[in-house]
Amino acid sequence: IVRVEVAGLSKSYESDRGPVTALEGIDLQIHDSEFLTVLGPSGCGKSTLLKCIAGLEPVSAGRILIDGKAVTRPPADLGIVFQRDLLLDWRTNLQNVLISVEFLGLKPRDFEERARQLLDLFGLAGYEDRYPWELSGGMRQRVAICRALVDNPGFLLMDEPFGALDAMTRDELNLELQRIWLRDKKTALFITHSVPEAVFLSDRIIVMDRNPGRIAAEFVVDLPRPRT
Ligand code: ADP
Ligand code: ADP
Repeated sequence: IVRVEVAGLSKSYESDRGPVTALEGIDLQIHDSEFLTVLGPSGCGKSTLLKCIAGLEPVSAGRILIDGKAVTRPPADLGIVFQRDLLLDWRTNLQNVLISVEFLGLKPRDFEERARQLLDLFGLAGYEDRYPWELSGGMRQRVAICRALVDNPGFLLMDEPFGALDAMTRDELNLELQRIWLRDKKTALFITHSVPEAVFLSDRIIVMDRNPGRIAAEFVVDLPRPRT
């Protein structure tokens, strides 16, 4: 089953020196429960691709369908994790996880139990009522991942979520992400600069080229996965 269908996608930004073509002629399908990773040099349009799919940037040409419907604004069944954790330092970690629920107009109370379970799963039991400023970078990013997962979205978009973290924390979070993946079978679009990370997590990898941003190569990753 195809969950995301991108056809003939182009995207230009206006700048002082005229239009900048970030993406040109992108054709891409993401299948249900597939973990797809995008690799490529800085400026090749990875973030732009993710933002267009998330409905956060208007496209210049082409179309994007999620579950058969055109994307005009961020769909409800979507969780997003950015490189910067974007946590609110004046709210507790638990309240930060519940922000996405509030944003969707749902009742935070109904999701509190699940939020606590997720924080526990990510090794943050005991930190529910503490604040993000009390946490390390790796712990903050775990809270951000919990926030993206709290309403149990079927589709997760991640833009270099571990880019700012040290290598050991990165490896740990990769393992946790993989564990959740194997258990919950979500569809994912993941951006990274790390080839090992891409190989470890993905079912499929696309490599992008810059000037203009295009898909240059595609690999299917066929490695044995741990059993859940
Ligand atoms: P990445 O880590 O994905 O390479 P960047 O650090 O290049 O991202 O960009 C960070 C943010 O700034 C992104 O949201 C991107 O859309 C925006 N951005 C990147 N280049 C420009 C630009 N030339 N003008 C305005 N915004 C930009
Ligand atoms: P990547 O994530 O691969 O680093 P981006 O999608 O951030 O690439 O950027 C692709 C191209 O689009 C770059 O040339 C960047 O400078 C440009 N760009 C990104 N965001 C903006 C923006 N908001 N305004 C103008 N140019 C942008």
